[in-house]
Amino acid sequence: MGRSAAIVDVVVVGAGAAGLAAAKTAREEGLSVALLEAKGRIGGRAFTETHSFGVPFDHGCHWLHSASINPLTELADAYGFTYARDSLGESLRVHMGDRWATEAEAEERVAFRNRNDAAIQAAARAGRDIPIIEVREHDARWTSVFDCWFAVLSSVDPEEGSTLDYASYRDTGEDWPVKEGYGALIARYGADVAVELDTPVERIDWRGRAIEVATPKGVITTRAVITTVSTGVLSSGQIRFDPPLPDWKRSAIEALPIGKVNKIAFQFDRDVFGSLETGSMAVFAPTSESVVFEIRPFGRALAIGHVGGRFCAALEEAGPAAMVDFALARLKTMFGAGIARHLVKTACTAWGGDPYIRGGYSAARPGHAHRRADLAAPIDDRLFFAGEAASIDSYATAHGAYLTGIAAAAAAAAARAPKGLKKQAVRGARRG
Ligand SMILES: Cc1cc2nc3c(=O)[nH]c(=O)nc-3n(C[C@H](O)[C@H](O)[C@H](O)COP(=O)(O)OP(=O)(O)OC[C@H]3O[C@@H](n4cnc5c(N)ncnc54)[C@H](O)[C@@H]3O)c2cc1C
Repeated sequence: MGRSAAIVDVVVVGAGAAGLAAAKTAREEGLSVALLEAKGRIGGRAFTETHSFGVPFDHGCHWLHSASINPLTELADAYGFTYARDSLGESLRVHMGDRWATEAEAEERVAFRNRNDAAIQAAARAGRDIPIIEVREHDARWTSVFDCWFAVLSSVDPEEGSTLDYASYRDTGEDWPVKEGYGALIARYGADVAVELDTPVERIDWRGRAIEVATPKGVITTRAVITTVSTGVLSSGQIRFDPPLPDWKRSAIEALPIGKVNKIAFQFDRDVFGSLETGSMAVFAPTSESVVFEIRPFGRALAIGHVGGRFCAALEEAGPAAMVDFALARLKTMFGAGIARHLVKTACTAWGGDPYIRGGYSAARPGHAHRRADLAAPIDDRLFFAGEAASIDSYATAHGAYLTGIAAAAAAAAARAPKGLKKQAVRGARRG
């Protein structure tokens, strides 16, 4: 790359869902774009591979959340991807430690969840941005299920979750898994975008009018930068801003830390799941230090375990063998010790240890849900910020990331346009 003589209109840092959307939108706006990605592939936390099991396995995003209002559902249709019309909340099946929950118990558990959801919403409506744990009921039977599920969905434990953040999330109750892989969908979307892979941004020098973006391959001079890396990466200091980001931006980053989520996946040589419905989510009730399994996705003889929060961090630290041991023990309790004979292969993710991601997704600290708007706000009409953490109502999702990328690129285009044309530029980008 060296030091480029030409000034590009915008440098986009990171080629995940947000970065790809930002680069494509900026290009459509007529801006010259350089998209820089640290990894050797695009997609970031959207990543599907087939080498583990011979069928698509999503290491990151898998479900089109809030599918009917999710713009990526339309893209899936346009590209010929297919999905099941599931609902995570409705598909939960609870194992009581020695048997599956009865229908009456399942109803009790749903009532418990609904009461707690309502309490969280009520706290948020009253403007009380407090830890989830302060409003969640204690019930010996169902608290652990609630907490385990919360940790998987939020990537933090209820002590660290914010009532206002939780209530701000726009959830239609539709969670549609993508058969060919959500990561594959994002890769398909980004297939026509020029990207510099293996190019980690190390420094963003915005002292002068022109911004200099330094990578090990050279320096790019640009008028604007759209940063889409996770808050874990932003707070690590891996990218040095010169001068440093202002205090309000740094506190927004610190207020939206990235939590922990991982998958522990099992492939069997036959269907070992008995009568449990395809695509259902099986959870083990007796402890919140648990794992939620997606059962037989798309009829495949797989169980995809999900772990979240502090327990997930400890498991990842212990390594893949410990992750598999733990989750297999749970599977044996649920489906019988004999299933081990039919185990073919396992695969684990380790997002926390990935230096370019550093965790699962962002979770606002209690009292700080309003900081998502600060994270999304530009600085000096030259430094723009996108990525899932910058979404107010669809954070922690691929479509939330995608929408923030479009918004940041539209804002960058508007900032570049002569005064009278600014409104037009924003309108045009919204249409795109
Ligand atoms: C286990 C798991 C399950 C999930 N399940 C779902 C789900 O079912 N549905 C859903 O909607 N969402 C899900 N998510 C969340 C979703 O995957 C993310 O919210 C979304 O993909 C984030 O996109 P992004 O563009 O904001 O960030 P990222 O995908 O993190 O993209 C940022 C990019 O920046 C790159 N980068 C980092 N540092 C640098 C640097 N210095 N220079 C250049 N590039 C850099 C990274 O390599 C990365 O490619 C899941 C996430 C995980 C981890």
